[in-house]
Amino acid sequence: MDTLPPTSAPPPVEGSGCHGGRDTMEAAARAAGKSETMDRLAKDYPRGPHDQPQSMCPAFGSLRVGLRMRRVATILSGSACCVYGLTFTSHFYGARRTVGYVPFNSETLVTGKLFEDIRDAVHETAKPEDYDAVIVTNLCVPTASGVPLELLPKQINGVRIIGIDVPGFGVPTHAEAKDVLSGAMLRYARTEAEAGPVARPRNLVEGERTIALIGELFPADPMGIGALLSPMGLGLAPQTPAREWRDLYAALDAVAVAAVHPFYTASIREFRAAGRPVVGSGPVGVEGTAAWMDAIAKAADVPAAMLDAAKARMLPAIKGAMAAAPIKARITVSGYEGSELLVARLLSEAGAEVPYVGTACPRTEWSDPDREWLEARGTHVQYRASLEQDVHAMLDAKPDLALGTTPLVQKAKELGIPALYFTNMVSARPLFGPAGAGSMAGIVAAQTGGRERFARMVSFFEGVGTPDRAGYGFKTKPEDPPGFRERQRKLRAAKAKAEEAVGS
Ligand code: SF4
Repeated sequence: MDTLPPTSAPPPVEGSGCHGGRDTMEAAARAAGKSETMDRLAKDYPRGPHDQPQSMCPAFGSLRVGLRMRRVATILSGSACCVYGLTFTSHFYGARRTVGYVPFNSETLVTGKLFEDIRDAVHETAKPEDYDAVIVTNLCVPTASGVPLELLPKQINGVRIIGIDVPGFGVPTHAEAKDVLSGAMLRYARTEAEAGPVARPRNLVEGERTIALIGELFPADPMGIGALLSPMGLGLAPQTPAREWRDLYAALDAVAVAAVHPFYTASIREFRAAGRPVVGSGPVGVEGTAAWMDAIAKAADVPAAMLDAAKARMLPAIKGAMAAAPIKARITVSGYEGSELLVARLLSEAGAEVPYVGTACPRTEWSDPDREWLEARGTHVQYRASLEQDVHAMLDAKPDLALGTTPLVQKAKELGIPALYFTNMVSARPLFGPAGAGSMAGIVAAQTGGRERFARMVSFFEGVGTPDRAGYGFKTKPEDPPGFRERQRKLRAAKAKAEEAVGS
């Protein structure tokens, strides 16, 4: 019989979550026995000037990682509105997989019945003929209420059970939530591999020395990286986040790890615990690729002659591709994918002037080579960048092109600045090796060439929507409640002051 949890602490105030009361939620989680979880999240994902997501719910990251894996079931425990939003978004992005949901109310939360309901759902779902693993995710309210997923059975009939807390008040971005789940699965797989024989990974090449890549990359990129590794006598291990449970064993079995996306702190902890050296940055441009190949060769003990031969074979092709597709533009870069510094580095090497890079992700040692390279060329690198910082940088730098998140692109277009969505347009093309070298020039030229059209649009729409006017269904201009604007101004000022005190 599974252990029953202690009675939960009082549930957090209704309506709290990502729209208010982060400190209250965190205090509730700590009071409910989640101090260790909150401490670990704070250490792995340190906060910056913005401590609450300015984009989507962070749990979308971990949900997506689970939904993309074969034979892995996903169960969410959280408020119905959160689960609705998360499942809607995952299906919008083509998940086509079932998402389990254990609903709750104040009573089941307070009495601990929610935990029993989750445990029942796990027992019902964990069928070895269907699944290798079941992932259960506590969203904000169950985490703040201390629902103890760690008391779930570790496995049921051979199906692994993995419980994770992914609260918006502890995990700053959806990118880092991917790491919460990836790290938890790697940890489980590592302990399995240490305990005895495990399932043979698909496509395993006996005796091949491999490099494990970390990060959700454009599909052609692993092939491009594989082409760089092959002349060094190295192959590619399955990527993290993994697509199948047994891939985790193959990834852990690599000779070294390339943290191409530099924010996977928990995953890297597991690779290090397995004794694997970790290399930061990625093979972008000529200089970036040369430095990355040097670092990989060192981590994987590749003989110098083999490294030199590999570089002599690969670097001229990258140099040629870059020379054929130069970029002449001033570009600001902002995003929350974790690859922003690599993109800025590639643009810069191709000839662009890049005055600013903002990333929602935190600073880690694995992006240090890129930060140092960019800063040496006068680029301001802002970790944990808020939307306000990205917008101010764009206004200040007056770029020919702004790469950024949806609200930044919207602001840029209002101002007549050509802009591109980072996630849809930049992350959807190769970055590495010869394919990456020439990939950006075309879209940069197409967008910057449209600047005059943007200026015409701005003048055409001049005055539309500003200042406040009566909207549809109103005969006169709606009046603000007395004092409303002043109160909001003071709230914003107080928040900005508090954020300044946190620092970056
Ligand atoms: S789970 Fe996500 S959507 Fe729900 S309150 Fe937390 S951060 Fe907001």
